[in-house]
Amino acid sequence: TYVIAQPCVDIKDKACIEECPVDCIYEGPRKLYIHPDECVDCGACEPVCPVEAVFYESDLPDSLRDYRTADREVFVEL
Ligand code: SF4
Repeated sequence: TYVIAQPCVDIKDKACIEECPVDCIYEGPRKLYIHPDECVDCGACEPVCPVEAVFYESDLPDSLRDYRTADREVFVEL
């Protein structure tokens, strides 16, 4: 799955939402979230993000690795 990391916080540009073919990007209070079970790994959201916040989960740099689990936990609670 793809993950939206720290650069999105308080930016929420939403260009990614327009691109996602399965509408699996959701808005939270401070950032956007990709639903890990709904994402089809198409990659369309990654290049359109103006702040480069979107990463394939295994490509997350170490400094942003926590976002992988943080995004999962958001949807577990719903
Ligand atoms: Fe949506 Fe594709 Fe991005 Fe997954 S990789 S969130 S399916 S646009």
